[in-house]
Amino acid sequence: MKLTLLALILSAQIAHAGLEKYSALVVADKYPFTEPEPHTIRVTYLGVNGFQFESTGHALLVDPYFSRVGLLPAALNQRIQSEPNRVAEGLKHVRPRVDAILVTHAHFDHLLDAPEIVRRTHARLVAGPTAVQLVESLGIRPNECQTAKPGDVRKIGPWTVRVLAAQHDRLFGKVPFECNSRPSPQSSPSGRGGRGALGKSESASQPVKVSDWCVGEPLAFVIEAAGKRIYIDSGGVPGVPLDRRIRGVNLAILGMALPDSRQRFAEAVNQLRPRYVLPSHQDDMFAPIDRGFTFGKMTNFPALLRESKNLPGRLVLLDYFQPWTLR
Ligand SMILES: [Zn+2]
Repeated sequence: MKLTLLALILSAQIAHAGLEKYSALVVADKYPFTEPEPHTIRVTYLGVNGFQFESTGHALLVDPYFSRVGLLPAALNQRIQSEPNRVAEGLKHVRPRVDAILVTHAHFDHLLDAPEIVRRTHARLVAGPTAVQLVESLGIRPNECQTAKPGDVRKIGPWTVRVLAAQHDRLFGKVPFECNSRPSPQSSPSGRGGRGALGKSESASQPVKVSDWCVGEPLAFVIEAAGKRIYIDSGGVPGVPLDRRIRGVNLAILGMALPDSRQRFAEAVNQLRPRYVLPSHQDDMFAPIDRGFTFGKMTNFPALLRESKNLPGRLVLLDYFQPWTLR
């Protein structure tokens, strides 16, 4: 893995530009500082695959991630940790109280900041078993987590969340950071209370390096509130269809970080028949968020744009922290 990621660095082209070329596709509210209108969901992009959804005074987060581990530490599988200052900056764009944090899988760019955000927002984490086990090893209490599996339907405040199975993109033919080599889950301190409960013998299960944040069980979600339905995933692979029961959503947020997910773009959009299509996870996740949106080196938005002309739904883009109301 190290070698393939190093190859990626070496083959990386000069950073792609930002959204300015596609400003006609970027949607944003004219008056972002007012309360969201009734019967709507307001969507705020938090970078990478992170979103805040707001409805009737409530907020829900998906994959919030602000620490932005750099490319070199990631490629070299170094020790990483959540950066509380960056999380605090990011959370300035999020409501002070959050009903839940949904996490699509346990990679660091989706889960690393979840423990810190649970502590600061009092949200409960809804994620697959590996992700829950990782955050519990970092001192989040079991009663702050809900382990989700495909088929579950959760009612949380005004939200109905349907949990679906999903696929993770491959990088050079393989899902990055699979969990096989992780220490056994039995050493998780689940049920033992807060941070102080982690004894020395249990620290083996705490994630330290990039690869300790192993993929876990990829999930997608359908989020309903105010009569609107949003589908969100963090990627996929071609030839593995989404759940056939999910059709006709108002907004489809589709992870598009790598070529695999791009190749499934048309089939996913044809299946979901969304009113709006928002490609996600397209930004350079290794760059600090205050640099603004630039496209990731392995994305190909021009190809998506060409393809979208023959697909249902209106293709839109969101800039960081610019809310947009789904009516
Ligand atoms: Zn991932």
